Amino acid sequence: MYPKPIKNFVDRFSKLPSVGPRQAARLAFWLLNQPKTYRSELKKALEDLEKETKTCPQCFFVIDGSASFDKVHGSTSLTINKEDKSLTIKNDGNKCGFCDNPSRDQKTICVVEKETDLATIEKSGVYNGLYHVLGGLFSALDTAVPKNLRLPELIVRIQEHKKNKTAEEVILALSPTHEGDLTVHYLERALKPLKIKITRLGRGLPYGADVEFADAETLSGALEGRKEIK
Ligand SMILES: [Zn+2]
Repeated sequence: MYPKPIKNFVDRFSKLPSVGPRQAARLAFWLLNQPKTYRSELKKALEDLEKETKTCPQCFFVIDGSASFDKVHGSTSLTINKEDKSLTIKNDGNKCGFCDNPSRDQKTICVVEKETDLATIEKSGVYNGLYHVLGGLFSALDTAVPKNLRLPELIVRIQEHKKNKTAEEVILALSPTHEGDLTVHYLERALKPLKIKITRLGRGLPYGADVEFADAETLSGALEGRKEIK
């Protein structure tokens, strides 16, 4: 029904979280009615999202790379030894403001599903340790381990922390949902051989809630009341 450029836009934008084809079409017409400068700014913001950001090689949070990008941030690579299956993370770049801050508690790693969960926890002001952005959760519909889950990197990180005697606790700050629970069970099994204290958020967050949308008071209660998984 719509001309090709609109259909094309709808196809792309309806893939965004919480946006369906009808909303995408509405967005297309709304954008067409905005001043040209706004569409140019939007286009630049999209380009900058890719060009001027980089992920922290340690916790995978986003780093602002807008200034001297290549000089400031190096590259990171994960290699698997074919013989003993051990993993090595090579990092010749700078870390993010959390990982690189010596005043933060280096002995605790808080595992979150996504960057916006980290932002909510940080805003609550009750946590001063390090983070690890997992990059997803297990799906209730698919039993396979999600490919993009940064679990090998987490395991290597804990092993290195243990070698340096800096690791004490891993907090699994995942949302109390079916997917969150599945992921907690899987992580628990994967991390147990590392013999590190594993905790998860305590009560306070209602079942089905998303960490990202929790208020500071609830979140601080859930963090302070965290329970050890044994
Ligand atoms: Zn980091």
